[in-house]
Amino acid sequence: MEEIQINLPGGEETTFPKGTAVGEIIESLGKTGGTVGAKVNGELVDFWYEVNENSTVEPVKAGTEEGLGLIRHTAAHVMAEAVQEIFPEAKVTIGPVIENGFYYDFDYSRGFTPEDLEKIEAKMKEIVSQKKPLTRKKVSRDEAISTFSDEGEEYKVEIVNDLPSDEQITIYEQGEWHDLCRGPHAPSTGDVKSFKLLSIAGAYWRGDEKKPMLQRIYGTAFWNNKDLKKYLERLEEAKKRDHRKVGKELDLFSIQDEVGAGLVLWHPKGSRVRRVIEDFWREQHDRAGYELLYTPHIANLDLWKTSGHVDFYRENMYPSMELENSEYQIKPMNCPFHIKIYQTRIRSYRDLPLRWAEIGTVYRYERSGVLHGLLRVRGFSQDDAHIFCRPDQITEEVLGVLDLTILFLKTFGFDDFEIYLSTRPEKFVGDVEVWDKATLALKDALDSKGLKYDMDEGGGAFYGPKIDLKIKDVLGRAWQCSTVQVDFNLPERFDMSYVGDDNSRHRPIMIHRAIFGSMERFFGVLVEHYGGAFPTWLSPVQVRIATIGNEQVEYGEEVYRRLKEVKIRVEKDFRNEKLGFKVREAQVEKIPYLLVIGNNEVAEQTVSPRRLGGKNMESMKVNEFLEHIQEELDPEKWREVETQ
Ligand SMILES: [Zn+2]
Ligand SMILES: [Zn+2]
Repeated sequence: MEEIQINLPGGEETTFPKGTAVGEIIESLGKTGGTVGAKVNGELVDFWYEVNENSTVEPVKAGTEEGLGLIRHTAAHVMAEAVQEIFPEAKVTIGPVIENGFYYDFDYSRGFTPEDLEKIEAKMKEIVSQKKPLTRKKVSRDEAISTFSDEGEEYKVEIVNDLPSDEQITIYEQGEWHDLCRGPHAPSTGDVKSFKLLSIAGAYWRGDEKKPMLQRIYGTAFWNNKDLKKYLERLEEAKKRDHRKVGKELDLFSIQDEVGAGLVLWHPKGSRVRRVIEDFWREQHDRAGYELLYTPHIANLDLWKTSGHVDFYRENMYPSMELENSEYQIKPMNCPFHIKIYQTRIRSYRDLPLRWAEIGTVYRYERSGVLHGLLRVRGFSQDDAHIFCRPDQITEEVLGVLDLTILFLKTFGFDDFEIYLSTRPEKFVGDVEVWDKATLALKDALDSKGLKYDMDEGGGAFYGPKIDLKIKDVLGRAWQCSTVQVDFNLPERFDMSYVGDDNSRHRPIMIHRAIFGSMERFFGVLVEHYGGAFPTWLSPVQVRIATIGNEQVEYGEEVYRRLKEVKIRVEKDFRNEKLGFKVREAQVEKIPYLLVIGNNEVAEQTVSPRRLGGKNMESMKVNEFLEHIQEELDPEKWREVETQ
């Protein structure tokens, strides 16, 4: 029998017959203590997994982050068994592990209710306490089809029929119940110790709106109650911060069916925040040597043919429209316009690099099912820029982009990033040599900044390598925002050139980059990061003035004018209401400062500031107040003063 080599953590090496199950390998090495599965060449597998090639095998223990996938997948099976026990007509479809949990989709005549979830959870607890061992059974295609069609599980039959002909079909059994499944699973239902069903949703079979609507149940599972509790608290906190909820409460933006799905209306208060962001953006781009451009929202379809978008990007584009015997296309990207500006004159090697930026609004078709508030939309404004440079300038330009990106993200309160460097995929355009040079240039830039990053080998776009940056918010969630992409394709397609010092034509390098990614998305992330309580410099309303009674209105107006003069975003609340009521309202609206004015303040020509979430401050002159908040108003200084 053919032997394969197994490498163990710590450098141990041994051999086993090809096809040995991971469970046997672990057992024969005496490493079973607390082990629930393994990682084979980095992939999580269960004890039944058969190793067919030289591999690295790392045992995975109960209680570890890595092993969570095993109990979550098993929890999905336990849930499906519970559902079928309580609702015997419910048919099973698929039940994968997802980030932070699992779900299972059932075909059932009605949606499940919160009361149903309670019953299902109770039944799941029974199944868990029975500690039923899971076993895996290999079956032939015919066996699988006849088993599931006898049970009336037509979705499973459909799945079996769609499996590639050489695929080994497996069924996981737990007592009487079983499921068609590829694994991996924990060894016993008893391993699912701490779980919770979270929510219900409708989902089309195979995501296709022409297929039956299924009933989805989401849940999660952890190794212990402490971790589960922590997660549920975080979920609660995320719900409170949901930008759709906060956006409504603070009157920041809306998305309305009558306007169109995925199309964002920025209300006055949201627009104020956006203006502050854009002002900062423009100022910093000026400093970093960018020129700012404006380009149209539509262009002749021919432009998008030259760029390749018609051939390679059409499913993401809105349909084109006809006008005077030509076809026009609403733009999905800004790039071709910048290229056309480049080509209006002959460029010399001395002109490069050119850094051109635009907050350009683009439109892309996203399926209605994936739209999500501001985070996934159909119309959005990219903080786009294109750098046209010589090949020898790539590293320096990427360094500049990284500096600017980090400055921006820190300014907006993000200190944690995940960075990925994506390299040449299987299908690509351009020379391997140029690719390697550009990839090295990106690597050099990251290394010289001392930034930690992960390699995504083969994950680059077909047109060039790229760096993606995900920001981590206050709840530790990662959001894809910034990107730097080298492009060998568009300069070629548009036949761009510059005159080198040898007097001949050369192809420039094009770098696409965005820092926020999209204004909409970044704003959504900001709202969730701060839960709507923006730092003072970003806040749509920075100060509100509240009078105690009618006698202070005249002085209140004067204070209002003085703050307005120095461009504070100020509001007045001179209504005939109790102070406590006014204070509570300002808190709900998350206004950083409330200036209270009573008779004392009028007499002494002062104000009494109250900081949102902080203490009441001593009364002070308006000038003193302005001095007090000066640094909070400065995007480059506010983080040094972190108030409260
Ligand atoms: Zn499964
Ligand atoms: Zn671009």
